[in-house]
Amino acid sequence: MTARDDSPDLFEAPPFEQNPDAADAPEGTGAPAKPRARKTIRTVKPLSEAETKRAGAAKKDEKKRKVTPEERMKKMGLVSDWDFALHMPLRYEDETRIVKIRDLVPGYWAQIEAVPYSTNQRQTSKGAIVIVHVKDDTGTLPLVFFNFHRSNILPHGKTLRISGEVRLDMNGAPQMIHPRYALMKPGDALPTTLTPVYPVSEGLQQRTIRKRIDTALLDVDMDDPVPEDITVRFGLPGFAESVRFLHHPPAGADLTALQDRTDPHWRRLKFDELMAQQITLRETRLLQKERKAEALVPEAGSTIEDDFLKELPFELTGAQKRVVDEIRRDLFREHPMNRLVQGDVGSGKTVVAALAALRAVASGRQAVLMAPTEILAEQHFRKIIDWLTPLGLQIAWLTGKQKGSEKKAALEAIASGAAQIAVGTHALIQEGVKFAKLGLAIVDEQHRFGVAQRLALRRREDFGATPHLLMLSATPIPRTLAMSYLADLDVSVIDELPPGRQPITTKLFVLDKKPLIVSSILGHVAAGHQAYWVCPLIEESEALDLTPAVDCARQLAEALPDVRVGLMHSQLAPDEKHRIMEAFAEGEIDLLVSTTVIEVGVDVPNATLMVIEHAERFGLAQLHQLRGRVGRGSTQSTCVLLYDPNLSDTGRQRMRVIRQTTDGFEIAREDLKIRGPGEFLGERQSGMPMLRFADLEADAVLVETARDAAQEFVRRDPDGARRHARRWFEADAEFLGA
Ligand code: ADP
Ligand code: MG
Repeated sequence: MTARDDSPDLFEAPPFEQNPDAADAPEGTGAPAKPRARKTIRTVKPLSEAETKRAGAAKKDEKKRKVTPEERMKKMGLVSDWDFALHMPLRYEDETRIVKIRDLVPGYWAQIEAVPYSTNQRQTSKGAIVIVHVKDDTGTLPLVFFNFHRSNILPHGKTLRISGEVRLDMNGAPQMIHPRYALMKPGDALPTTLTPVYPVSEGLQQRTIRKRIDTALLDVDMDDPVPEDITVRFGLPGFAESVRFLHHPPAGADLTALQDRTDPHWRRLKFDELMAQQITLRETRLLQKERKAEALVPEAGSTIEDDFLKELPFELTGAQKRVVDEIRRDLFREHPMNRLVQGDVGSGKTVVAALAALRAVASGRQAVLMAPTEILAEQHFRKIIDWLTPLGLQIAWLTGKQKGSEKKAALEAIASGAAQIAVGTHALIQEGVKFAKLGLAIVDEQHRFGVAQRLALRRREDFGATPHLLMLSATPIPRTLAMSYLADLDVSVIDELPPGRQPITTKLFVLDKKPLIVSSILGHVAAGHQAYWVCPLIEESEALDLTPAVDCARQLAEALPDVRVGLMHSQLAPDEKHRIMEAFAEGEIDLLVSTTVIEVGVDVPNATLMVIEHAERFGLAQLHQLRGRVGRGSTQSTCVLLYDPNLSDTGRQRMRVIRQTTDGFEIAREDLKIRGPGEFLGERQSGMPMLRFADLEADAVLVETARDAAQEFVRRDPDGARRHARRWFEADAEFLGA
């Protein structure tokens, strides 16, 4: 969530030291690969003394306790036979062939048979090096070992089978570093299949995991629940065949296709996985559809909905009207609504939420509106009060930090039904708030929650009967992603902005230009407008040389004596936040300096300039949200991104995207490309079955195919389909059943 997530250069782990564990170092590649530079030069923050000590202590602990391979595998999520059977190789080594020393190619992994004939030891600044020279009938090759160990003194005159990546030394001569080797026994046959190299955590030996996987492959029942004609139709091989093939491809298999996972056997696994995901999600959805809810039917003679629309100073857009209709249709049913409304920032979701709430009230029920931040909840509260108290409604306000007596009064009003609508933060679901007759729960900015919370909400029966659920989000989810991760929701899209909006102009400046931007604020304010200034972090490590918001506000206030500067950050007391937001909304503050707490929802139409300092540290979605704080009125708005020219590649990419487009969907697609689905959805969203093999972007076509196939599968053989889904998402099944 913070800028920190996006500073890869600074937070990447230090480059690996040479792994002293020769045989299993997961380095190099069996497939043709570019020879890699040995050393990666990166800026790495050195560990502090305390950190080093801590790391050392942890290592010692580990030694003392002796972590078993089982524990290591469990930590990687490998427990059941199926976990192992589906743990696929990272790459392969071709031990089916012996290469002559003369034919070795730098950058490639190879296996030779050779005889050690001389051994040197050398002392370097880094410690002892052992170099063993070996020969076959075509040439000689040095084997280099960086640690002095008896086992590295290879027996002269005996034939060894040696394998590893061929690298060039400083003089351009080939060598192998820490190769694997074994003494040849008479009649040692070469294997007939490629040797799999599995992803492992540190300290886990390849031979250990290989053995465990091979056992699993014998033990699991690999019957194929998918009707054969379906897989045949898509040209996919059998399931058991595919799994076995991928673990042990025959000599001569197409390594490139295996590596890119385009091999038909890979496609079969991805197809099965995607199908399992679709089946699981359909099941969840069906379970939901079976749940009962009370239909929200307006009581005869109720006019509040029409009265509200009459009082509203604007006409709903076509998209808003359509979405309101979709919601009303859901509410009419005796099953809980489970709908997500997506609409870009500023598309007018709040009024849609208000209309939904009014439908509940008109039907003699209560509605609750929840927001992820105190600031946003409060703003909703004020807006709802403005809109709805004239209609004679009572609105309750509830947050986590509220004082005792006030909170008690609010809780009572909610419990007695005196308050028809409750507005607040997520405290409303987290604590045991009792409603008299809750009909509808609305969650704003749902992307700030997660699936787990969504499910928790759905499970809450003490909300009364299962309430209808409406979620609002400004983060559009690209189609393939929505098909998998939001498949348990109905989605409405507000794809139209209210009329008269001026497009926001986005400008990029290097940080050096800050004084220029600061001085331009004066003119902006003199013309009667307001502005935001966003500083990324507050009171965080100086190592990142971020300007903490407090300093930032002070500097700006000093530089702009005629401008009324306010400061907003998350550590302020709720009262203080309230006072500042109010002052800004009322125009008593000209320039609001803030951290990202204003990221969601804040709506002050007269604020038409947004400056984001160190913009390169923010994620794309976050920048889009922040920028959405301006451009809310009919005046032309500007967003200025001040960036550090010393930025990472992804930082540069983000700056380019955010400048080129203001379309939330476009930005979301780019964001997905840059970050990948796991990160895109955020940790909180990843409660849904995550895909191990399929890639929603690269395998987009397969996603669609699998969805259709899953439908057919379920229709023809529901039991088989369920069995299939469990095989893939066993661990998630219980969670999804919620
Ligand atoms: P968001 O979708 O980002 O939550 P809001 O609901 O905060 O957007 O609406 C943004 C602004 O647009 C608000 O000031 C709101 O009153 C105004 N607005 C909403 N719908 C319309 C409309 N149909 N015509 C004009 N202004 C509208
Ligand atoms: Mg909003």
